[in-house]
Amino acid sequence: MEQKPHIAILASPGMGHLIPLVEFAKLLVHHHDLHITCIIPVLGSPSKAMKAVLQALPTTIDHVFLPPMILEEEIKGLKFEVQTILTLTRSLPPLRDVLISTRFSAFVVDPFGIDALDIAKELNISPYIFFHANAFTLSLVFHLTKLDETISCEYRDLPEPLKLPGCIPIHGRDLMEPVQDRTSESHKMILHSAKQFRLAEGIIINTFMELEGSAIKALLDEEAKNLPLYPVGPIQSGLSNQVEESDCLRWLDNQPHGCVLFVCFGSGGTLSYDQTNELALGLELSGQKFLWVVRTPNNESADATYHSDQTLDNNTLAFLPKGFVERTKWQGLVVPSWVPQAQVLSHGSTGGFLSHCGWNSILESIMQGIPLIAWPLYAEQKMNAVLLAEDVKVALRPKTNKNGLIDREEIAKVVKRLMVGEGGKKVRNRMKDIKIAAEKALSADGSSTMALSELASQWTNHPGF
Ligand code: UDP
Repeated sequence: MEQKPHIAILASPGMGHLIPLVEFAKLLVHHHDLHITCIIPVLGSPSKAMKAVLQALPTTIDHVFLPPMILEEEIKGLKFEVQTILTLTRSLPPLRDVLISTRFSAFVVDPFGIDALDIAKELNISPYIFFHANAFTLSLVFHLTKLDETISCEYRDLPEPLKLPGCIPIHGRDLMEPVQDRTSESHKMILHSAKQFRLAEGIIINTFMELEGSAIKALLDEEAKNLPLYPVGPIQSGLSNQVEESDCLRWLDNQPHGCVLFVCFGSGGTLSYDQTNELALGLELSGQKFLWVVRTPNNESADATYHSDQTLDNNTLAFLPKGFVERTKWQGLVVPSWVPQAQVLSHGSTGGFLSHCGWNSILESIMQGIPLIAWPLYAEQKMNAVLLAEDVKVALRPKTNKNGLIDREEIAKVVKRLMVGEGGKKVRNRMKDIKIAAEKALSADGSSTMALSELASQWTNHPGF
């Protein structure tokens, strides 16, 4: 019997990375004759959401958990990305065993697992990177070494915006979080990763030509000879995993068409106590319908929920302003912890999305044509917010006051503008155009479909196979 090329895909802990990788794997097995094994490193123990995604995998995709890593107490206080990279680095020996155990044609890694590319090289397996963010961020990664060599101050202190080829100019303070403190461990790690990117034989990127054409072309012009880029997005995440019945979907069924603002900060986003209070009062003040996924506030870290498998229930919402839930019963629904986001966004009652600007959330919003309020929190989200608000023009961005908070009046203003104002109309129309462009990219002869086919044929014709 003829064997299919077998591709190993290394995920990283964290839903925002796992979901698109899994969906990418599904695309490969649905449209191309490949055999896929997803390899999952684990920090602590797999979260419920993670297990649910993996249990829903089609039988044509295998998955293997690597032995769970328990990090020392002092490491647990470090940033999520540092913990993730450490988890992956320490998972390299068991990963090596998995890669040796089967004859793989190609090995795809998440950027957090970039050091695993060395093992692939050593074992003569073609190494690829699945870049979960956009071309704007990838461009920064490629230019980081040069920026580091030529700029001596912190990027946020630069007087002028930076101009990455093919990208919108961006102020240093809006660059991704790990480069904000150049003395930090995160910065050291990202510089190291940026150099490792050159080991790959290709980079798969979850974006599409019609959205980021000039950034992609600029990257191709500079890198293409050595490093092909495959823009295969938007990879639609979540819809097929989340078929469960849910109270929030039933609630949406009873709301008017396009009138609900969905408020969600991804799988890890967390606000401070004061900011949570302002958001609640701002939503109330706006008078607009809302569906808000709330998390226990945290004053220390904007990605605190990443670190915990938080399961809140309605009885533990005491941190919300007194009487808020009762007063807004007609207006909104507060859901603790988690909702099936892709389904919420595809529901006819949803008309706007206040988002932390995680790249998956943005792509999910694009696929449903839902305009955004950009409220970036961590990682590369400020870059995404700049891209959305200033370049693609599908988002409104609220202003922060002198205390570093977005206050209730500003929230109410921007929510009303998005849902019923003139500014909202413009971004809504623009988002409709982008949705159509995304559908075109994914159509039978669209740019993303072609890029995926090119990649698959690269693997199918691999000389080692
Ligand atoms: N998500 C979800 N329900 C939630 C919160 C998040 O289904 O309540 C999903 C969301 O649809 C997206 C992913 O989790 O696919 C979050 O990824 P994103 O890149 O937006 O943000 P991250 O969590 O990585 O910061």
